[in-house]
Amino acid sequence: MISKKGKCLIVCAPSGAGKTTIVRHLLKKFPSLSFSVSATSREPRKNETPGIHYHYISVEEFKKKIESEEFVEWEEVYTDQFYGTLKSEIDTIWSKGHHVIFDVDVEGGVTLKNTFGENALALFVRPPSLDVLEERLRARGTESEESLAKRLSKAEKELTYELKFDTTVINDELSLACKDAEKKVEQFFRV
Ligand code: ADP
Ligand code: 5GP
Repeated sequence: MISKKGKCLIVCAPSGAGKTTIVRHLLKKFPSLSFSVSATSREPRKNETPGIHYHYISVEEFKKKIESEEFVEWEEVYTDQFYGTLKSEIDTIWSKGHHVIFDVDVEGGVTLKNTFGENALALFVRPPSLDVLEERLRARGTESEESLAKRLSKAEKELTYELKFDTTVINDELSLACKDAEKKVEQFFRV
C-alpha cells in the first residue's frame, strides 16, 4: 500500500528521444529527487549496473510480481520485454522525504499520472523528428539492428501520446531542453 507523501515527476518519450539524459540532469540539479529503479526482464546493457539502472529479473519472476500485485504499473513494452514500477521503490523514496522521478514508456506514464493526479507532473520529451531519433539511437550504439527496428517502429505511435501529458520539452539542443525541464520542475515544486 502506497502512502501519498512526496511528489512525482513522470518523464516519457520514445526510446532515443533523450529522457535518460534529461532525467540525469534533473537528478543532479534537484537533490530532493530520487530515481525509481524499475524492474525489467530485458538483459542489462554493457554500461548498466543492476540495482542502479534496473532490477533485472526473469520473465517468470516478473509474472510472479504481477500476481502478487507488487507493481503500481507494468507494461510489456516490447515482445517478452516487461518493465514495471515497484510500489516498494516509491514507498522507500517517499519515506526518505524525497520526490520520485520515473523514466517509463508512454503507456506507463499515463497510468502513473492517473494514479497520482495532481501529485504528479507528466513531462513528455519530444525529439525534433523521427530521423533525428534514429540518428541518436544509432549513435548511442547500445542496440542491435533488431532492437533498433523494434524501437523505431514503436516511436511513431508513442509520439501521438504527447497531448495526454501535462507539458512537453522539445529535445533539440540539449542544454536548452535541460533548462526548460528544470524550469518546469521548479514551478511544479513551488505549488
Ligand atoms: P532515451 O532515454 O530516451 O532512450 P537517451 O537519453 O539515452 O534516450 O538519449 C539517446 C542518445 O542521444 C544518447 O546517446 C544521448 O547522449 C543522445 N542525446 C540526448 N539528447 C541529445 C540532444 N539534444 N542532441 C544530441 N544527442 C542527444
Ligand atoms: P530501455 O530498454 O531503453 O531502458 O527502456 C525501454 C522503454 O521502457 C523506455 O521507454 C523506458 O522509459 C521504458 N520503461 C522503463 N522502465 C519502465 C517501467 O517501470 N514501466 C514502464 N511502463 N516502462 C518502463
